[in-house]
Amino acid sequence: MSAVFQLTGGWIEVIAGVMFSGKSEELMRRVRRAMIAKKRVQVFKSHLDDRYSGGVYAVGSHDGRTIEAFPVDSSTQVASRIDPLAQVIAIDEVQFLDAGIVALANDLAARGRRVILAGIDTDFRGEPFGPMPQLLCVAEVVDKLHAICVLCGSPASRNQRLIDGKPAAYDSPTVMVGGAEAYEARCRACHAVAKADPAQLRLDQPAEPQSYFEIKTSSK
Ligand code: ADP
Ligand code: ZN
Repeated sequence: MSAVFQLTGGWIEVIAGVMFSGKSEELMRRVRRAMIAKKRVQVFKSHLDDRYSGGVYAVGSHDGRTIEAFPVDSSTQVASRIDPLAQVIAIDEVQFLDAGIVALANDLAARGRRVILAGIDTDFRGEPFGPMPQLLCVAEVVDKLHAICVLCGSPASRNQRLIDGKPAAYDSPTVMVGGAEAYEARCRACHAVAKADPAQLRLDQPAEPQSYFEIKTSSK
């Protein structure tokens, strides 16, 4: 698909989807192919996710394969480390970066770079994650990947956060670093979020879920 854009200068590709859907595998596949094509490639990865690789200097997939990457935790850091000669810029775990990544990705594409971004599109509540909505809109090419629901075997589109084996509450923070939580890939029907505690107020989102339906509380 991206071959279509090779005549047009730069462009943005987004690989979106749930955890375990193969985003990192797909990003690594595209990066390796760009290297085979003798392109100058730079890979970045959010600091926040070092769970599946040999540390923060590598992009790793759940199958254990890795490639080298610069660790970053802000769009400014990405901007300051861009190699002016790089033709392809890839960023994994882009959902953790700030909104400035949208302007930076657009700027790089406008300067003729191929920008490959991989990120989780929805948080554990099933709501849009960080800069992903804007990135999906400005990208020329979007691929949405699915994992397999661990409960029913259907295509999974949701990240199930479990704390002590139970669905996490709606008002728990979007990003829990170093927490005791676990994640599973689940389909919409099997996804569960415990109801918001009205006495608690989240700082990053309105306290009430923006839904006309009651939040599901069942854990299958
Ligand atoms: P992502 O970057 O989207 O989290 P990865 O590329 O790191 O995904 O890992 C994808 C790999 O995870 C799959 O190829 C498969 O081997 C493994 N995997 C583990 N659990 C699941 C699941 N529930 N559904 C699909 N793949 C899974
Ligand atoms: Zn399911």
